[in-house]
Amino acid sequence: MKIIIDGQRLPLDVKITRDILTVLKGVARSQNWNLHYDNALETVYLQAKSEAIDVLPQRQPAEEPAVESTRLLGKTICLDPGHGGSDPGATGPSGSYEKDNTLAIALLLRQKLERNGARVIMTRESDQRAGYPDSTPEEDLAARVAIANKSGASIFLSIHNDGFPHPAASGVTTYHYGNPQSVKLATSLQKSLALGLRIKDRGVRFASLYILRYALLPAVSIEAGFISNPEEEILLMSGDGRALAAESIFQGIAGYYGV
Ligand SMILES: [Zn+2]
Repeated sequence: MKIIIDGQRLPLDVKITRDILTVLKGVARSQNWNLHYDNALETVYLQAKSEAIDVLPQRQPAEEPAVESTRLLGKTICLDPGHGGSDPGATGPSGSYEKDNTLAIALLLRQKLERNGARVIMTRESDQRAGYPDSTPEEDLAARVAIANKSGASIFLSIHNDGFPHPAASGVTTYHYGNPQSVKLATSLQKSLALGLRIKDRGVRFASLYILRYALLPAVSIEAGFISNPEEEILLMSGDGRALAAESIFQGIAGYYGV
């Protein structure tokens, strides 16, 4: 992670953890600075002056892939990182975007699944819409379901962050559309997420969401915490918090398959 204050990069290279983000947010608040976290560039921008910042730091090389187990060999899983491109989803109090959190969690989850033998199909792998760039919200959702339905996957997981006008709203929720296998998957994921993230368990709920209604395979939508809640925003925008979410979802998937 890089930390840039008024265009000047600090001579540090640290992992973006909940602790560091909490400290940086505290500094920003006490100094009346703006804080923005760019997930794609793994960079925290602190803006003390009013001029815009234009800095493009280099990305760090990716880690070497490793094999952990063959528990999920033969399983194909479709992951849908919610929102993307011109649709940021919900915005957190620090200016973080839902679309960045959902993609980061999904990419960590993909790595974990692949390291355990699964084949993973993504509806998007970068900061873009699932349909064409100017697609309407409905076309974007239809494109995501079409990818899932054609993927040959046995389960479909859409990953989101919740948002609410009141900052106190908190917790994790998993939605399904009533199919018994979807309920089973949602139940396993919700249990694992509530345990792993240690935030309020809002339970497994029925929802008539487009992507769940039109999915031809067991499908769930995960709201992995409230981006509108300052503490859960830090959980969602930090490297360790995202890894915890990915690990919890992975355990929920393994529980669903009974492996
Ligand atoms: Zn969303």
